[in-house]
Formats: sequence, C-alpha cells, structure tokens
Amino acid sequence: MTPVDPHQPYDDDNIFARILRGDLPCEKVYEDDWAFAFHDIAPVADTHVLVLPKGRYVSWDDFSANASAEEIAGFVRAVGTVARDLDLVDAGYRLINNIGKDGGQIVPHLHVHLLGGRAMGPMLSAN
Ligand code: AMP
Repeated sequence: MTPVDPHQPYDDDNIFARILRGDLPCEKVYEDDWAFAFHDIAPVADTHVLVLPKGRYVSWDDFSANASAEEIAGFVRAVGTVARDLDLVDAGYRLINNIGKDGGQIVPHLHVHLLGGRAMGPMLSAN
C-alpha cells in the first residue's frame, strides 16, 4: 500500500471518509460531535479501536496545525472517553498515531490506534 504523504490534499473518497459518511460499514464503538470510533478490521490486540476526528484532516501534522481548539479538545477528550468506555484505564493501554512514510500511515484521514487487552511489550521492534 502507498504510504500517506502528510502534505497531500484531503481525499474525500478515502476509506475512513466513506465510513464516516456511512457509505461503508464498520463496527462502531463511539460517536460524538467531534469524533468517531470503530474496531480495526485487522486487530493486533484484544482491543484495537481506531478513533478519528470528524473533520477533514489528513494526518496529525495537518490536524495539529489547522484544527480549531474546539476540534482538538473534542478529539482528545473522545480518545480518553473511548478508553474509559472500553474499561482499559486500570490495566493500561497504548495509543499509536502513524504519520507519513516513516510512521507507516496508510489511510489519509487522521486516526489514533487504541490498543489494549494485553501487555503491549516494547514500544518498537528493533527493525
Ligand atoms: P495506518 O497504517 O495507521 O494508516 O492504519 C490503518 C488501519 O486501518 C490499519 O490498522 C487497518 O487494519 C485499518 N483498516 C483499513 N480498512 C479498514 C476498514 N474498512 N475498517 C476498519 N479498519 C480498517
């Protein structure tokens, strides 16, 4: 798959834009005015949920530079709410956001991976 160029324009036909519009199915876990969350289709942990801002942002770089304070606060709060709703706080969990080529970002709509349900191990593999 082609990695995301963090400077590319937002593509309204990207797979997560289509999920947000309801054009493609997903296993939804949360929605509010600012964010939407659903189970990753290829989970790598017992819990693997993707949390997206509803706005049209390609990446963390785009979002952190261009989103309003309300959008940023709403999204960050939603990530925490989803983790609490999934009862992940006591055991702990990991958030991952991939950005661009070296980060391994594939889908060009900002999303945070929320991973839990087991010890996550080292932060990165050696290679
Ligand atoms: P990233 O590499 O950070 O862009 O991660 C993209 C993630 O989206 C991967 O973990 C995929 O398994 C996941 N994914 C791709 N298509 C879907 C889909 N239709 N529904 C749920 N998750 C998806």
